[in-house]
Amino acid sequence: MSKNKVTIVTGASRGIGKGIAVSLAQVGYDLIINYYSNNTSALETKNRIDALGVRCHIVQADISIPEDRVKLIEFTKEKFGSCNLLVNNAGVAPSKRSDILEATEESFERVMNVNLKGPYFLTQLIANWMIEQKKEAAEDNFRIVNISSISAYTSSPGRGEYCVSKAGMSMMTKLYADRLAEYGIGVYEIRPGIIETDMTGAVKAKYDKLIADGLTPIKRWGKPADVGQAVAAIADGRLDFSTGQVIDVDGGFHLHRL
Ligand code: NAP
Repeated sequence: MSKNKVTIVTGASRGIGKGIAVSLAQVGYDLIINYYSNNTSALETKNRIDALGVRCHIVQADISIPEDRVKLIEFTKEKFGSCNLLVNNAGVAPSKRSDILEATEESFERVMNVNLKGPYFLTQLIANWMIEQKKEAAEDNFRIVNISSISAYTSSPGRGEYCVSKAGMSMMTKLYADRLAEYGIGVYEIRPGIIETDMTGAVKAKYDKLIADGLTPIKRWGKPADVGQAVAAIADGRLDFSTGQVIDVDGGFHLHRL
């Protein structure tokens, strides 16, 4: 059983999830690293976390599949016996960007299942477990962080299903924040901007130019660690009188400018 606080980070084998995992290890959390198919990357993340002196396990689970969500929770119970923080980070872009006038139902279902249905019902599972844990250890802290995107409010008709999934995650944050406040469980939404990961690799040249041309007031790509530090601030209890809060980690992209 764990003496440290424990976190589950979904999609932590690579990219932003890996950055979050490292930042949480740095503030003393034991970790469950979830991944989908990339076992090698998950092991690399685990090695990085192990070197930071906290405990860490990796677990394959497709968060869009109900049985896998249960597996993820049961695995955490078995390894650590508790969980103080869920970070809903795993997400996918459409396999192919298609104009909203042509995009397929198949792509819509895939993106919505991973980006919205998965986190929505994983949160339901963990929330019920956190409520049980809180009854047994009233002084312990429990929190949930959802990694949405600037796409929650920015129109990109070439990947409408992604935007809709992230807008849904924003409402999901409000719903769970409202419902779980009575148990002292804070729920937060982090909206990353343009972050350098595999997901944005295919559009790197396009975004290089947009950033150089002033798309964001802070003229650089975001790094996974930028998102990780924001999650760590929440995990460390720095925002405990806020819930349902949106935190923009986007180099100022959200500002309306004249
Ligand atoms: P990424 O580099 O493509 O990594 C995606 C991660 O999610 C991987 O760990 C992958 O596991 C995992 N994953 C994918 N499908 C999964 C599933 N069905 N079940 C469990 N895990 C799954 O993406 P990223 O850029 O780090 O993005 C992470 C999150 O931030 C996503 O929710 C994304 O929408 C959001 N975001 C990204 C940006 C950006 O600019 N990059 C901006 C805003 C928001 P495997 O390694 O096993 O494939």
